Amino acid sequence: MKQITIAIDGHSSCGKSTMAKDLAKEIGYIYIDTGAMYRSVTLFALQNGLITDAGIDEEALRQRMAEIVITFSLNEKKGRPDTYLNGVCIENEIRTMEVSKYVSPIATLSFVREALVDMQRLMGAAKGVIMDGRDIGTVVFPDAELKIFVTASTDVRAQRRYDELTAKGEICSLDEIRANIIERDRIDSTRAISPLRKAEDAIVLDNSNMTIAEQKVWLLEQYHRATAE
Ligand code: C5P
Repeated sequence: MKQITIAIDGHSSCGKSTMAKDLAKEIGYIYIDTGAMYRSVTLFALQNGLITDAGIDEEALRQRMAEIVITFSLNEKKGRPDTYLNGVCIENEIRTMEVSKYVSPIATLSFVREALVDMQRLMGAAKGVIMDGRDIGTVVFPDAELKIFVTASTDVRAQRRYDELTAKGEICSLDEIRANIIERDRIDSTRAISPLRKAEDAIVLDNSNMTIAEQKVWLLEQYHRATAE
């Protein structure tokens, strides 16, 4: 069967990565979570004192970008890739509220986007890839054969993220999570470079009232249709 590129974009916390990971496993594609890459840069900045009360030290981060090596490696137990920053698994560290708070401002920086988009294009060059993020169908792979734009109501998204974090043992507040989702959507949709928007040829999926199993079936159908064309 022909190998294609699948781009999944959409709002924060609407289950893009769950859908994308499940489909990748099912059809044997490589899954790339580009949000994890922006989160890794944010974690690096936090760990190295480049984010303080005074804001982000953009110049220092620009100079240190070359030190940031992000890789993914399959976690056999989970059947999903884990994210590594300079050889260290940081899969849990990048999902905290602290990283969520700073990731969208970091993702507005042109030198960060340029570096990560270059890496993403290399990772997906051979096709047979599912990439999720905010600008995959519009900027990273505008020629992707299948583009999906996912959304869900703010309350549903906040509750899903709350359940995910509490299941991991993180103490968090639903109101704080809802506020973070709204703020990230605002920054992501209004930034000057590569704002979050639906590609003209993307198929919209509102999964507010869908189970994970229903989404999986829906996405598999889209994949079969796209590869049959
Ligand atoms: O997908 P996730 O919620 O982990 O992404 C975290 C943040 O990274 C987003 O809110 C957005 O600011 C940024 N991002 C981006 N472009 C992408 C993927 C993520 O700007 N392709």
